[in-house]
Amino acid sequence: MIATCRKMNAAGLNQGTSGNLSLRVAEGFLLTPTGMDYDVLEPEDIVLMRLDGSHEGRRLPSSEWQLHRDILVARPEVGAVLHAHSMFCTTLACLRRGIPAFHYMVSAAGGVDVRCAAYATFGTEELARRVLEALEGRKACLMANHGMLALGAGLAQAFKLAVEVETLAAMYWRALQVGEPVLLDDEEMARVLEKFKTYGQQSPPGGR
Ligand SMILES: [Zn+2]
Repeated sequence: MIATCRKMNAAGLNQGTSGNLSLRVAEGFLLTPTGMDYDVLEPEDIVLMRLDGSHEGRRLPSSEWQLHRDILVARPEVGAVLHAHSMFCTTLACLRRGIPAFHYMVSAAGGVDVRCAAYATFGTEELARRVLEALEGRKACLMANHGMLALGAGLAQAFKLAVEVETLAAMYWRALQVGEPVLLDDEEMARVLEKFKTYGQQSPPGGR
């Protein structure tokens, strides 16, 4: 988890100490502590949380523990949840704009777009609810006036998807500076999503 946190820093996903990360374990989930710089994190700083909200360890859990808990409860296929206030996803989220099918790689998040969840105050149950709505049939979403979220079977998948979605947000933002990007239609996106399935758990089609 600490290695992934540091990769989030290196990839520019984190702004200050705003990111957080969770990993499903038998007892519940492991979660990054609140307000700590990832460069100084030690294994003992990671918080063990149970699904009832109780926690163990020398640090307090991230203020978004409820968001992580509710996603892990609602989505049994998910093993890791990554949340960040990354620059381009958050920029779009402040405009309350999701990422439409301007590029076929949008399908990496599981559907024809990456939705932007409706606004709710950070650290609330309502935020968790709204994020879960935006995640319906998806593995990532933006969060209005807040940031972004990416899910994965494990830490590596969640991190990879977060980088992909942030890259897409940056591209979409750039395209918007010049004009209105041409969107792929539902028929083409259905074809792309079908190809993703055939490529299975390997890299998505994209020449990687
Ligand atoms: Zn946040």
